[in-house]
Amino acid sequence: MKVLLKREDYEKILNHAVSELPNEACGLIAGTEEERKGGTVRKVEKVYLLTNADHSNEHFALDPKEQLAAVKDMRTLRLKPLGNWHSHPESPSRSSDEDIRLAFDKNASYLILSLMERDRPVLRSFHVEDGVSAEEELEIVE
Ligand SMILES: [Zn+2]
Repeated sequence: MKVLLKREDYEKILNHAVSELPNEACGLIAGTEEERKGGTVRKVEKVYLLTNADHSNEHFALDPKEQLAAVKDMRTLRLKPLGNWHSHPESPSRSSDEDIRLAFDKNASYLILSLMERDRPVLRSFHVEDGVSAEEELEIVE
């Protein structure tokens, strides 16, 4: 699995995550999926910034109403739901035990943005299946 994210969308996630500090920020990603020789390639075409209903710096919950609106928008735009993203204000970019426990969709890409080092944000993508989180290739494209 390879995930392609446009630089402007990366910046959208980053800016939102920074503006939500000290709390975790979260949202959804949608786009297209294509089988290529080297494997599946996912292109993120739209990033959704949602409210963290938990308002916490240790976990997040997508606001259900906003989530519904985002999914409707994806349908209208004929984009495939690809997964979600959230920030880790104080921890590295890897799935926490809770992230793994709450990752119900093995087809989703889970993007995690670490702001632990404020001047060096780290965004990674993960696939979670059977309680195991594995990193996916993520490329920021211009
Ligand atoms: Zn997390």
